[in-house]
Amino acid sequence: MSDLDDLYQEIILDHDRSPRNYGRVENATHSAEGYNPLCGDRLFVTLRAGERIEEIRFEAQACSIAKASASLMTLHARERTIDDARKLAAAFEAMVRGSGDPAADLGELVALAGVRRFPSRIRCATLPWQAVLDALSRSPR
Ligand code: ZN
Repeated sequence: MSDLDDLYQEIILDHDRSPRNYGRVENATHSAEGYNPLCGDRLFVTLRAGERIEEIRFEAQACSIAKASASLMTLHARERTIDDARKLAAAFEAMVRGSGDPAADLGELVALAGVRRFPSRIRCATLPWQAVLDALSRSPR
């Protein structure tokens, strides 16, 4: 394993152990559930957004990959415009499927790039982003 793999592994373990933005947003404008039957991951995303995503949280009963991905997602989606968040979701999905544009600024999200070597885990990593897209596609409450 390379040093980079070690670093990425460390980021995933850290977010699995201490997930950021865990819980539910009060007065959420959008929410969605995500379910990945391949692994049994379930998660619930709530967010409050106007022009931008002001706050975003998640709850999950999920594997470490899905939980770490959700935790990292909340950090990277926050304060983005809805359009921007959609673009980031697409860039992330492309990365884990191995068709990513390396120019996209994914920050710490690159820690999950390794799942492309494990096709059965790709859904675990993309589930939180799909839930966000699903939430944003619904009319605000
Ligand atoms: Zn999973």
